[in-house]
Amino acid sequence: MMQTRFTGSFTQQEPIPEEAIEAAVAALRGARLHRYGLRPGEVGEAAALEREFADWQGSRYCLAVTSGGQAIQIALRAAAVAPGAPVLTNAFTLAPVPGAIHAVGARPVLVEIDDDLRLDLDDLARKAEASGARCLLLSHMRGHLCDMDRLMEIARAHGITVIEDCAHTMGARWNGVRSGNFGLAGCFSTQTYKHLNSGEGGLLTSDDPDFMARATILSGSYMLYARHGAGPGPESFEAPRYEMPNLSARMDALRAAVLRPQLARLEENTDRWNRRYEAVAAELAGSARITLPDRPEPERMVGSSIQFRVPDLDAAGCRDFVARAGARGVELKWFGSADPLGFTSAHRSWRYVSAQDLPRTDRVLATLFDMRLPLTFSEADCTLIGTILREEAGEVDQRPAARP
Ligand SMILES: *Cc1c(COP(=O)(O)O)cnc(C)c1O
Repeated sequence: MMQTRFTGSFTQQEPIPEEAIEAAVAALRGARLHRYGLRPGEVGEAAALEREFADWQGSRYCLAVTSGGQAIQIALRAAAVAPGAPVLTNAFTLAPVPGAIHAVGARPVLVEIDDDLRLDLDDLARKAEASGARCLLLSHMRGHLCDMDRLMEIARAHGITVIEDCAHTMGARWNGVRSGNFGLAGCFSTQTYKHLNSGEGGLLTSDDPDFMARATILSGSYMLYARHGAGPGPESFEAPRYEMPNLSARMDALRAAVLRPQLARLEENTDRWNRRYEAVAAELAGSARITLPDRPEPERMVGSSIQFRVPDLDAAGCRDFVARAGARGVELKWFGSADPLGFTSAHRSWRYVSAQDLPRTDRVLATLFDMRLPLTFSEADCTLIGTILREEAGEVDQRPAARP
């Protein structure tokens, strides 16, 4: 039988909108690419982006920086995380997250995830108690929001400051509240494979004026903080302007110009991503071997990627499944691989972090697969991808010694 094959590219994002290209060209023609290089009375692209993102996010303040990882690192420093301090974070996240904790000299305490890829809140409460940590860097990894009401209760009970890593949840909500608005700060990425694309870039949001003043000076604002678009008033800078080091992590006008027209389409794009997610999920749900993570009712997701498990496979079966899907044009990431490949999310490959025992996370990752769903895929493409995965999952041999 002739097998259908998918021919799209999992790394191809949509073209940058024409208005964004025009704004970028105008910025280049003007040659004032530095965010503070403004004519008298001019607001500037970076400041305008900060204002627009703060309004869209529903936060008081926003700071544009060079990357999502820098947004996180600056947030940790501005939250006064001290060298040697324990910082709680998800055991399943992307390498820039433990990297940012390490960069401020703090010590990652990895918290288990549950079968639905959310933070395991019982393990969080246990490790909060045992470690005495005063900070949680909560990574909404792959867009799966945990029960944010219960999480904030645990944080309050333990006196823990929450910083949210929203690299995969820009636009997502829990009970109507946008991710990033629960804790002290929200950290966003505008790297090509996230929800806005400026190659690299990051945004930091908060409602706390003192925190944001410290973050602004840390980002490298010299004494030009008045030229920010959504920052606190001058009174908040009295101490930070002398006390905070300059870490040179400013966003430039070119990237900001490229981002502003994309932000205007984010809400519509969220619906477009979710239709693609649902098209793949509908096919996968037809396989008895595939388990999709639960998407709880209070969550409004942004389905820019999809994850699923094939729990009855061993490592050889997982490799076989990846190879079979790949032969039909469907590129899967498998999180159970022993070698860190590509974008690493395996805690064992972070050797600068002390080794930690995470049996539940390891069990979940052992049979976990992941795919991006770029908007260049049509809904029909997504149905085809789902069909291929369902068929190939049915072909892979089961674990030789099936569990009793
Ligand atoms: C991409 C990503 C980041 C960091 O973003 P960069 O802009 O690439 O530094 C942080 N957390 C997660 C989960 C990510 O996927």
